[in-house]
Amino acid sequence: MTKRAIIAGGSIGGLFAATALLRAGWHVDVYERTDVELSGRGAGIVTHDTLIAALETVGADLTDLGVQVHDRVAFDKAGSRIATLPYSQIVTSWDRIHQLLRKLIPRGCYHLGRHVKRYNQNSGSVTAQFDDGTSETADLLVGADGFRSAIRAQMLPDITPQYAGYVVWRALVHEADLPANVHADVFDAFTFYTPAGSQIIGYPIAGPNNDLRVGHRRYNFVWYAPAADLDDMLTDDNGDRHKISIPPPLIRDDVLGAMQTQAKAMMPASFVEILNRSERPFFTPIYDHHSPVMHDGRVALSGDAACVARPHVGMGVTKAAEDALALARHANGPLAAYSDERVPASLRAHLRARQLGSWMQTIDATNTNSDGASHPQLSDIMRLTAVTVD
Ligand SMILES: Cc1cc2nc3c(=O)[nH]c(=O)nc-3n(C[C@H](O)[C@H](O)[C@H](O)COP(=O)(O)OP(=O)(O)OC[C@H]3O[C@@H](n4cnc5c(N)ncnc54)[C@H](O)[C@@H]3O)c2cc1C
Repeated sequence: MTKRAIIAGGSIGGLFAATALLRAGWHVDVYERTDVELSGRGAGIVTHDTLIAALETVGADLTDLGVQVHDRVAFDKAGSRIATLPYSQIVTSWDRIHQLLRKLIPRGCYHLGRHVKRYNQNSGSVTAQFDDGTSETADLLVGADGFRSAIRAQMLPDITPQYAGYVVWRALVHEADLPANVHADVFDAFTFYTPAGSQIIGYPIAGPNNDLRVGHRRYNFVWYAPAADLDDMLTDDNGDRHKISIPPPLIRDDVLGAMQTQAKAMMPASFVEILNRSERPFFTPIYDHHSPVMHDGRVALSGDAACVARPHVGMGVTKAAEDALALARHANGPLAAYSDERVPASLRAHLRARQLGSWMQTIDATNTNSDGASHPQLSDIMRLTAVTVD
């Protein structure tokens, strides 16, 4: 008889788990708490060979996956190119990957507006309970419900995400809105600027509706920045302090203004121009957590629910894909084999990402690196950012 899996969370981690299990002959039902189709606000995603292989394995159509970049280039504050590293990579977007996977889910198996609250299980089955009082029973429950996972909170109540001390600002600018000199400077490259205390990267992605035509793409700007007063940044115009992160439309104008002023004081002119011309930038605080096991009986954690690797390492989507493929391999047996395979791999990605984040604070003994020209680990940052951790 066909086995049934319930998946809590319909983002990229949940869709990868669903598609991998479908390929392995399972019936799947994905339950996503949001009641409208998800959208990634254009967030860029850097791909790796392992991610592309995983997409192929689950049957995704990779036509027009994203924009190919060939070089990584670092700038100093004056806008001079201070280092170049040839490195070919396809950069795509959250929406594109979500769309490719979403298409593979059979009609009627993806359920919006369904919030899984908790589970109980016995030797023969697992039951997911929803906040509306209903429940569903299956052979397997996958907690793909993100870094604030309800499934993990029940399975591992002592694991709570810890604020890493800084935020990531993100902005997107339309290619056509960039002045010719800025376009020539940055657009075709994966760029870096690493003054003490910050890290900035940028890369081109497709335009709206996956438009890859020259002139119709966008540039994705990512700035890891210290947040002197996170409480204030998370407070909206009504004085409400949001707990973990603040919805982008609620970020106050003065918080945005302070960010723009700081950017103007410390960044190369091309980066300032990108920010000035972008759609309304938004920030997300960076959190860390890592689960020492990824299963409990018939319940498995995957993706960010199991472990967050800070975005420096660009492994979030790839890690979720690798979790999914491993889960599909081990789903018929005891899930301890899944944990044994994925916990150490997740930890490696998690630690590499923390190391990359820690280098934001590095200065050498003789130089404060305020102009980004003398970061002691610049070549390592360029070599290891958004690169697969084996
Ligand atoms: C700035 C930034 C840049 C990034 N860049 C990259 C990159 O270049 N490459 C990369 O690979 N990754 C990147 N990531 C990470 C990547 O986006 C995630 O790691 C990846 O999407 C996997 O997430 P997930 O599906 O496990 O969790 P999430 O995307 O958090 O999804 C969890 C889903 O579960 C739903 N949910 C939550 N609770 C419940 C519940 N109780 N019941 C039902 N549904 C629930 C949520 O609504 C959500 O849709 C980046 C992240 C950030 C913030």
